[in-house]
Amino acid sequence: MKKYKAFLISIDGLGDHPVAELGGLTPLEAATRPNLNLLAKEGVLGIVDPFAPGVPCGTDVGHLCMLGYSTDIYSGRGPIEAVGAGITLSAGDVAFRCNFATVDETGIVIDRRAGRIRDGVEELSAALDGMNLGEGITANFAPATEHRAVLVLRGHDLSANVSDSDPGGKNVGQPIQPIYSLDDTPEAERTAKALQSFLDKAQVILDNHAINLKRVKCGLPKANAILTRGGGVMTKLVPLKELYKGFKGAVVSGEKTVLAIAKMVGFDIYTNKSMTGSYDFDPRVKATAALEQIKNHDLVLVHVKATDLAGHDGRWDWKKDVIERIDILIGILKENIAEDVYIAVTADHSTPCRIGEHSGDPVPALIWGPGIRVDAQETFGERSCAGGGLGRLNGNQFFSVLIDLMGFSKKMGA
Ligand code: ZN
Repeated sequence: MKKYKAFLISIDGLGDHPVAELGGLTPLEAATRPNLNLLAKEGVLGIVDPFAPGVPCGTDVGHLCMLGYSTDIYSGRGPIEAVGAGITLSAGDVAFRCNFATVDETGIVIDRRAGRIRDGVEELSAALDGMNLGEGITANFAPATEHRAVLVLRGHDLSANVSDSDPGGKNVGQPIQPIYSLDDTPEAERTAKALQSFLDKAQVILDNHAINLKRVKCGLPKANAILTRGGGVMTKLVPLKELYKGFKGAVVSGEKTVLAIAKMVGFDIYTNKSMTGSYDFDPRVKATAALEQIKNHDLVLVHVKATDLAGHDGRWDWKKDVIERIDILIGILKENIAEDVYIAVTADHSTPCRIGEHSGDPVPALIWGPGIRVDAQETFGERSCAGGGLGRLNGNQFFSVLIDLMGFSKKMGA
């Protein structure tokens, strides 16, 4: 059977709600998006529940589902972030997602992201890396994207079943939460104690660190505390090239969680310093990289993070602007690809600006390319997609549809 190639464009947190200031349109619907609309007109649309209807999911789960994986293997986001940060995990290691945060003298969190700190996180991380926590437990600490970081606890008899120190996104003004075990095993107790010890020591080290003293002089918030969440142990995934014989995937992204997921499913990684995973992404850089990667791969996952950031920041105007730049990226791909390449567009979850968090709303999706049963929809938006020919699918089903079009599916029955 002839094999086809595909770009899978993942627009992080794309789905949104109507915005009054945009005349009741969503940021996507309000954006100038000639290329997305052209693909919509010539393609087939649908809405996708990345995990399940009404269940908000993270970037990690959303992308695992988008790439056809069951979330049974989900082991918490910590290990995924750790892979992304370049830490090699061994059996028994417990990994946590972290934020650098700002706390006041009484331990109240006044900024969960320490002013979205970017400069100096390497030095701050190095000051915490390798900490000896006693009882044979050591801490490895590495920076991820911007204010995000990863903590790995190493030692015998550890457990991921401990609470988060992060009070959560809507709880700025709350104290850092104390760590406790979530079951009564000695492993969970031991891990909770080690984690609390790490967090206490980290706060002292960070508060007096030269980088933070300099930040104060510049009027920036100190990155003087670590918030932890999403503890988990590493799980090995069966790579897609083993599930679909000969299948070669690549990812183009600047965001460490997505790079980690792609690495776990056996994709080749393409990233560079100019791919920041932030608002300042350059659509031309990503398009050029994606066009290069499609030459030697069957599927290239092209990921843009900034739509999600705008959703979290409640900035519908920024989200609209990011979508308009993604439209340029897609236009460049469409201009330069061969006839046997599909373009699929979807998202890992919705991040509505009015909520500022991930929601359980479905995301818009489209597939454009050879043999598509073109539907009656003419624009790419949350509501037009709801009337499209793909109907309503979950993330795994959307991936199956794409894999089948590409000629990699397996026949059921004789
Ligand atoms: Zn998000």
